[in-house]
Amino acid sequence: METRKFTCLGCPVGCSLTVYIENGEVEKVEGNQCNIGIDFAKQEVKDPRRKVATTVKIKNGVHPLLPVYTDAPFPKNLIFKLMDELRKIEVDAPVKMDDIILENALGTGVNIRASRSIRKNE
Ligand code: SF4
Repeated sequence: METRKFTCLGCPVGCSLTVYIENGEVEKVEGNQCNIGIDFAKQEVKDPRRKVATTVKIKNGVHPLLPVYTDAPFPKNLIFKLMDELRKIEVDAPVKMDDIILENALGTGVNIRASRSIRKNE
């Protein structure tokens, strides 16, 4: 049986998980303090994902950068590619909080949204 170790990201406690895997399936999880740790371990084994928060350039805004976030956890193996895409983006002010900046990023179904509003520099 394969054993892997993860830190659960389900809450700030950050439990150290030991995960026992048989034929690609999680058989047992140790070290979790709640069931979220089990769900996290299963997700991490099958399809690891992370929430991403970063910034993109904004033109004619009162600030030079717009903070953005993924509106759902994003596949971990595509995060560097996503950052490359976001580096190419420059949006026009004004932007409203939660506006979609990049729809269906890299075909994942996850949208990139504005974390805050930025008004136009008049
Ligand atoms: S197992 Fe539960 S208590 Fe531990 S880090 Fe995950 S969510 Fe938090």
